[in-house]
Formats: sequence, structure tokens, C-alpha cells
Amino acid sequence: MILIKGIQIVDGSGTAPYRADVILQGDKISAIGNFPKKSADVVIEGLGLHLTPGFIDVNTDSDHYLSLFTNPSQKDFLLQGVTTIIGGHCGSSLAPLLYGSLESVRKWTNINQINVDWQTFGEFLKIFNRIKLGVNFGTLIGHSTIRRALIGEDFRDLTKSELAVFKKIVQQSLEEGALGFSTGLGYAHSRQTPYGELKELVKIVKDYGGVYATHLRNEHKGLIASVSETLKLAKETGVKTLISHFRPLLGFEKDFEDSLDLIENFEGADLHFDSYPFNVSIVPIYTFLPHWAQNGGLDIMLANLDSEEIRAKILKELPKFGPEDIVVADTQLPDRFYLVGKMIGQIARNQGVSLNEALLRLMMMTRLRALVIYKNVNLELVVRALGYEQALVSSNAASFSENKQAIKHERFFKTFSRFLEIANQQGRPSLEEVIEKFTSIPAQKFGFKDRGLVQEGYIADLVLLQERKVQAVFVGGQMVIKDGKFQDIFAGRVLRRS
Ligand SMILES: [Zn+2]
Repeated sequence: MILIKGIQIVDGSGTAPYRADVILQGDKISAIGNFPKKSADVVIEGLGLHLTPGFIDVNTDSDHYLSLFTNPSQKDFLLQGVTTIIGGHCGSSLAPLLYGSLESVRKWTNINQINVDWQTFGEFLKIFNRIKLGVNFGTLIGHSTIRRALIGEDFRDLTKSELAVFKKIVQQSLEEGALGFSTGLGYAHSRQTPYGELKELVKIVKDYGGVYATHLRNEHKGLIASVSETLKLAKETGVKTLISHFRPLLGFEKDFEDSLDLIENFEGADLHFDSYPFNVSIVPIYTFLPHWAQNGGLDIMLANLDSEEIRAKILKELPKFGPEDIVVADTQLPDRFYLVGKMIGQIARNQGVSLNEALLRLMMMTRLRALVIYKNVNLELVVRALGYEQALVSSNAASFSENKQAIKHERFFKTFSRFLEIANQQGRPSLEEVIEKFTSIPAQKFGFKDRGLVQEGYIADLVLLQERKVQAVFVGGQMVIKDGKFQDIFAGRVLRRS
């Protein structure tokens, strides 16, 4: 039994903090009140501290980078107070895998790192139950993962019978515990997906009370159209909707603000977007190619780059950026690790070529496997957007092990702490509003019935804050972060849709 005495509770509901004693027993919050005479195995003096529910990061990439396997502690999340992460975003998930292929996560990582011994969503969860994680993990199923298993690398509409099979798979996965369904409509393999196909699939998600999360078809010139399409789908199906990593790209701020207006005034379904308070995207390098040059998949993209004539055409269509705007985060290729951390300006200087030519060379040197940190987000505007009622905070990142040859942007380990700091500096949202955004709102959205609040009977996923800094974290009643340090305790669980 753990007794936390005289602590200010920010309970996650958005109401003002109040002072009480809290008793944890097993994995639950067993009592909240005034217990001056109670003794316990562990007593924590709460003076000067806040107690909040554990934070929920609604959009993470730890599954895409396979770091759930290579770094099961996921401690970069725990250290910032995140006790639950949600994966399976942007159309790509680790399950179901009809033929065991992880092809759809290859844009983030080397997929030969692990052995796949599951096919259905249910089999995946069973296996995952045995892996001890530091955080709780739940996942959506990815549209692209299933679609590519069904029709391979073809770029075409589904036949009637393929769509029927697809619907069966979605239904079965939801029954087996998937939290919902995601699309990555901005990526080459999904960009041409017709609205009708999405609607058929999303209707099933709605029937099961799952969440539909979408990486928009177009975040540039087509932003407003993409948001409108998403809102139409939400309205026509009533599905709980989440617009993934919704961010104002430089040069498209006006479109972003207009889209925000549409979102703010939308009625007809539960609607949120998630975003992060940083000025960068982390993207697979091939996404810089013009759309026509991405069609057909990786082999065709590489062939395009190898053709001098096509390369010249691509060069003319690359976006404008400065020498420090692109940094190599990860190359996935051991013989190219020396490029990690290099800025595009350095590569251009070393090779005596223009910035755009350097980007093309980087694509070729890494056979399009590189991930880059791209400074293309308007920070001021994204911070303002995060204040909206519809905004949830997400890292859209992963927790890597220390020995991975990759650059960790602050987004990977500081998203939630940073937002707490920003809110404090600007005086809004209030601490209780920020905590509500981090906890009960996402818990409700994803149907986590006994998480997201400091309330009797709830699971003891908790954070102790001192001056808004994470001092201790509990997962399922166990203190996994103490004095800001990871305790080597793996108390995370697999979360199913309930
Ligand atoms: Zn995405």
C-alpha cells in the first residue's frame, strides 16, 4: 500500500486542484480523502506537489520504428509523465499482417530487426502481452498495412470482393481489441484511395465505437479540401475522428487557419486533432519527391532517381529550404551512419552543389531510406492551435534506445514537458485544462474506462509534478520513475478497446 499525503490533486476532469490524501493498493487508486492516522508501506509527503493522472500520448511511432521491441522500457515517454501510448497511426500498424509482411512500416525502419510470428490482430496482442513494456500500449489498425497485403504494390481501386474481405478484416480486428482504424492518405500508396472505400471501412469503425485517425491527403495546397473531406466522413458516419499531427506548414498558414475554423465550428461527431509544440516534421526523405515521382512504390522511385533526365525534372520541383532546415535523423544503413546529424547545408558545401542537388544526392546515397528532421512548421501558430478545445497533444515520435545511430529531436522526449512550460509562460491554458487534455479527454475518446482520472477505483497511472516538472510516475500502482529516474520496472499493459 502506498499513501500520498496532503497533495494537490489535479484530477484530470478540468476542475480546480484540491488537497487530499490518496491511497494506492495493488494497481488501483483505492481511496481519496483525509487519512491522518493511516500507516502504509510507502508514505509520500505531497507538500508542494501536484498529483495528476498519467498522460496519454495519442499519436506515437514506437511501433513504426519497432522500438517497442528494441527498447521496451519506452522510458523517454515515462520521463515526461506519459504512461500510455497509442500506435498504429498514419495507415501503418504492426497488425493484422495477412502474410506476415511489415512492408508498410519500412519507411520508418529496417524491418529485418524482428521476426514476425503473428497474422491476426488477436495473435499480435497475445504475443505482445508477453513482452514487458514500461508504458501501456494500444493500437489502431492501419489502412495501408491491410490494403498492401491485399493488393501488393499495385496503385489501383479495390474490387468489390477485395473490399468485402477488407471489411471482414477490419471487423475482426476491432472485435479482437483494436482501438480503431487509421489512414495515411498523404503517402504514395494511399493517396488515390477513393472516398467511397474509406466510408465503407469507417462505418464499421463507428459501429464498434472505435476511433478513426487520419494523416491527411494533403497538408499543403490541398489542406482545406483534405480537412473538409475528413469532416464530411465524420459527419456522414458519425465516427469519432482524430486528425493526426495537424500542423501549419510554412507557407500554408492561411489554409491552416481556415481549416482550424472549420474544425472549431464542426458539429455532428466527436472530433479532435493532435499536434506538438515544435517547428519540425520528421519525414521519410522520399516525401520530398513530387507526387508523380512517388507513384509506383520504392523501386520505381529509385529508378526515377537513377535516370538523369527524370532527376533533372525532379530537381526543378523540389521545395525551397535553407541550409539548416533539413537535418539527417536516421539513415537505416550502417555504411551511411556518418550522415546522421548532418545538415543539408553541410552536405551541399562538402559536395560543392546546391541545396536542392544535395537533397537529391542524400536520397540516392541512402537509397531513399533516410528520415530527416525538417523545419517546416510555424511554431507560433501550432502553439496557438494547441489551445483549442479540439486539440490533443502528441509527440508523433518514438522512444529509442541510447545506442541507436539516430538523432533524437526534443519532440521524442520533451513534448509533454514542453507544453506544460509553454502553458505556464503564456498563462493559459490553466494547469487543470492542460492535464485534462493530456488525460481524461484522450481516455474517453479511446474508451479507456478506468484511466485518465484521479478517482477511486481507477487504475493508478499517476504523475507527481513539482513546479510542473515530472518528479515521479506510477504505472499500474508501481513507481516506475522516482526523483526523475527510471526504476527499471516494466509495468505497462496492452490496452484493448473495451
Ligand atoms: Zn502521419
